[in-house]
Amino acid sequence: MSGANYELVFARRRKADAAIQISIMDCFVTAFLAKTHATGSTSLSGSLILSGTGLLNLFGERPCAVGSYTRVMKIRSTVRTSSIVCACVVLASCAQSPPLPQTEVVTKTKNYSIVYSVTIEDGKDDTAQASIRVEQQSRRLRELRFTIDPKRHIDFTGDGNISESCGKLVWQPPRKGGTLSYDVRVSQQRQSGGYDALMKEKWALFRAGDVFPPAVARTTVGANSVARLDLDLPEGWSALTPYLSGDSKLSFPVDNPERRFDRPTGWILAGDIGVRRGLIADTRVAIGSPVGEGVHRMDIMAYLNWTLPTLRSVFPTLDSRLIVVSAGDPMWRGGLSGPGSLYVHADRPMISENGTSTMLHELVHVAMGVSGSAHDDWLVEGLAEYYSIKILRETGTLNGRRGTLALADLKKWGDPVDDLFVGRSSGPVTARATTLLAELDAYLIKESRGRRSLDNVVGRMIESKSPYNYRSLCVAAKKIARKPVPLLSPDVVPGAPAEAECMLMR
Ligand SMILES: [Zn+2]
Repeated sequence: MSGANYELVFARRRKADAAIQISIMDCFVTAFLAKTHATGSTSLSGSLILSGTGLLNLFGERPCAVGSYTRVMKIRSTVRTSSIVCACVVLASCAQSPPLPQTEVVTKTKNYSIVYSVTIEDGKDDTAQASIRVEQQSRRLRELRFTIDPKRHIDFTGDGNISESCGKLVWQPPRKGGTLSYDVRVSQQRQSGGYDALMKEKWALFRAGDVFPPAVARTTVGANSVARLDLDLPEGWSALTPYLSGDSKLSFPVDNPERRFDRPTGWILAGDIGVRRGLIADTRVAIGSPVGEGVHRMDIMAYLNWTLPTLRSVFPTLDSRLIVVSAGDPMWRGGLSGPGSLYVHADRPMISENGTSTMLHELVHVAMGVSGSAHDDWLVEGLAEYYSIKILRETGTLNGRRGTLALADLKKWGDPVDDLFVGRSSGPVTARATTLLAELDAYLIKESRGRRSLDNVVGRMIESKSPYNYRSLCVAAKKIARKPVPLLSPDVVPGAPAEAECMLMR
């Protein structure tokens, strides 16, 4: 079993699955790898490097490129790592999102607590201080392995052992816990010039997942995190996050029931801000923007009133809480979704002249709540684009003729595409995918005389917890149509692998 498989397996485990453990055979593999690579160690702490290198290979990653370096920092305390610690160690998943660390809870259970803190100092440009504090009994949390951006996450210090190499930062907190601290350069400029994160004198807009990078946790069997996000902001600032506040206005329990290791993600807006709130289709909506940015929050609320009920009827996976954040230049002039949240530029029309809608496209992404390689990007993007148009039509926001014209434009744009199965779907590929889904929807409606549609196919995929990929689409469509769907045959879908299980569609 490769390391990549490990990650996949554990990432899919639910938090409730307490009995996850590495088999004896796997432990031997770990031990073997650790031992094998011990000779390659260069460093201050042989045992630490040995363990780290073993893990590196357990995850199937390549060793550092020539010229890269391995840095080991030993800060305030010393942790004596035993040579091989695999017998009762599990790997928790890398992460998405928000619970409440309390010493009492931690003592009575196998849980360990994590407090994620972000400090923004008054008048300080662009740099925030971040820290991760762990409280635990008997080394429940053995190690956190972060994928960092070395230009963005800098100056790591803390308790226990910290090592950094090839964009990975490994932190082994002390037995009873400790703190890892670092600086984060918040503002992030895209190649196109706009910013997808920005910190200014009076406000900051960023994704929590960029401040607290993705991590893989090694824990004892059955150990779960109880997490919280604390914001320490300048006087007079307030904040809007995808999480409900807990003990104080700037403290947010973070819990993702799908994961055993919680990490805050999603958009955060802090500063001198204005927020409009409402309850739409069982979803608590909050729309926020910095004061003076010219964001029409009530227009957005009205737009959500029109569209969210239909969106939720197709994608019941939409969370019960949604935040929409917006700001003007120099923020990026587009839209970006995150867990339970989305950003859209203040000048972005809610419906473009061609009948498409960035806002609704991003909302579909939020409702689908997917990311990662288990999904075919063309299908994820195609669904977001197709449903942004379909929902506008169904709600009467866009009349039938305009909806048809919007789809015709996309068909023309995507026609030359001969391969949907690209790593990242955009532009013509997404247009081609949208056309395929529109045709599939029309086919299902026609064949069932209006009784079934693509909505049922999406419902089927959600119900069976299938990833959004070609195979799942084929299987669900066949089930709903009660017969093979020729439109999804590999010789019709551009770039479809001939050996795909969708052969059954023939
Ligand atoms: Zn998209």
